[in-house]
Amino acid sequence: MRTVISTETLYSDFVKKVEAISEQTLPSCYQCGKCSAGCPMCFAMDLLPNQIIRLAQLGLEDDITKANTIWICASCITCSVRCPRGVDLARVMEALRLITSRKNIDQVQIPEIPKETIAELPQLAMVGGFRKLTA
Ligand code: SF4
Ligand code: SF4
Repeated sequence: MRTVISTETLYSDFVKKVEAISEQTLPSCYQCGKCSAGCPMCFAMDLLPNQIIRLAQLGLEDDITKANTIWICASCITCSVRCPRGVDLARVMEALRLITSRKNIDQVQIPEIPKETIAELPQLAMVGGFRKLTA
């Protein structure tokens, strides 16, 4: 599918919502990539943290939703500490999770998890994961 950037996406409600919830100014990011260079979880992400904020700047909500990045993010705040522009990317990630969660889309299908896997998972990780990944 073709990605279309327009004034509608650039000035969309989505961009305004991300900025309002995260209390960050998205255009402050100048794509230096220091956030991604320090992110301990980027090995498992479809898109790197700096790519996610770029998509957020452009208002490309669907592309963000299709990637696993915001769910893999561990909220460790390394990106926020490293950013030379003072962008708190961890807050942007949280805002994106909140906006996506409000669409009531489950990121994991609990009935489809094999019983053997559930038996092996630490209970705390399971409860925490379900809170984060289910609507
Ligand atoms: S470190 Fe900051 S300025 Fe650099 S890409 Fe990441 S969010 Fe943007
Ligand atoms: S808060 Fe998320 S995106 Fe930022 S460095 Fe940690 S895991 Fe990566």
